[in-house]
Amino acid sequence: MSTKIYEVAVIGGGAAGQMALLRSVLNHLETLVFLGDPKTNKKSRATWVSEVDNIPGFFDKKRPISSTTREVTQFINKSEDLKSFLSVEKKKVESIQKNGDIFILNTTDGTSFQAKYVVLCTGTMDVQPLIQGSIDPILPYANRNDVLYCIRCDGHRTAGKNCAVIGEKAVSGWIAVMLKERYNLPHIYVLSHGKSFETSEELSQLLDLYQIPVREEEITDILGDPKDKGLEGFMLGEKKIDVTTAFVALGTMVYNDLAKQLGVTLNDREHLVTNEKGETSVSGFYAVGDLVAGKKKQIYTAWDMAVDALDDIDVKVRTEKRNKLLKETQGEQ
Ligand SMILES: Cc1cc2nc3c(=O)[nH]c(=O)nc-3n(C[C@H](O)[C@H](O)[C@H](O)COP(=O)(O)OP(=O)(O)OC[C@H]3O[C@@H](n4cnc5c(N)ncnc54)[C@H](O)[C@@H]3O)c2cc1C
Repeated sequence: MSTKIYEVAVIGGGAAGQMALLRSVLNHLETLVFLGDPKTNKKSRATWVSEVDNIPGFFDKKRPISSTTREVTQFINKSEDLKSFLSVEKKKVESIQKNGDIFILNTTDGTSFQAKYVVLCTGTMDVQPLIQGSIDPILPYANRNDVLYCIRCDGHRTAGKNCAVIGEKAVSGWIAVMLKERYNLPHIYVLSHGKSFETSEELSQLLDLYQIPVREEEITDILGDPKDKGLEGFMLGEKKIDVTTAFVALGTMVYNDLAKQLGVTLNDREHLVTNEKGETSVSGFYAVGDLVAGKKKQIYTAWDMAVDALDDIDVKVRTEKRNKLLKETQGEQ
């Protein structure tokens, strides 16, 4: 294990990680960032987001999160003032311990690193529907944005199209109602995919009002051609549902393994509970981005949380250095 103790370790190179590392370096904190490896990247929203329509300046960017993380590290490495504050590891952090005030971070290749403060930015991933027992049938349609996951980001893409919302929880019904009210879609369906739909009296009334059918049969096939025409519908046994777009609302997996190893408090949906600055129940261990409880799951929210966390860490680092200096100066007198 290297004896060097970094002031800050940022785990994750997505939307939260890019702002956390930038803010940390701009604050002149000695920063180590773990960008993850090909496996973590493949399973991250950072890689999944192909286009962004709701952030000024992002419209023309392809894979906007991954590309901006690259831009951030390139910007820092081009600056003589900033580059000495950043170390980059393209690795996955496998395990973490706290020894006194210091965190020990172990990567998959067996290397260990030490840091005073840790900012966890490992994100979440959307649960995919299994069609014929596999997630593979839906992925090519997700890649071409026929199948969508984030209503706040991509809801407008359904305008004028027939759409299915996939999920058994009431939230999929509420998404269908919102899409109908905002974008007045010709036909919209809720597909609970082999499960009982969890509705309420108010929701059932609205689904009736807008003539949104709920179908509880299992989706047995997906129709269309991902290379050409795109999505054309779903088969529920013998019944065809004609839609050219769909929303998946099956919940998310939270990448909270490292937090669990430290005994961090989670909420009932497995997200990390933090104070208003992003610090978790473990002192010095911060969480930023989609894995934080009670926050919008958006790029700009991740950025804002990262700034709060790094400013808080900066205050702590400066206070510690200042107190040490004062003590030394007083000792000399
Ligand atoms: C299809 C889709 C479209 C979206 N469109 C938009 C949009 O238009 N606008 C918007 O604001 N938001 C959008 N979002 C939401 C946005 O993607 C998330 O809010 C954002 O990516 C969250 O950032 P994050 O850093 O928390 O997680 P991510 O961006 O997913 O980053 C997580 C990072 O952690 C790394 N990682 C994971 N585990 C480890 C580990 N153990 N060690 C090291 N690294 C690790 C991964 O490799 C990855 O780099 C969209 C989401 C989806 C799914």
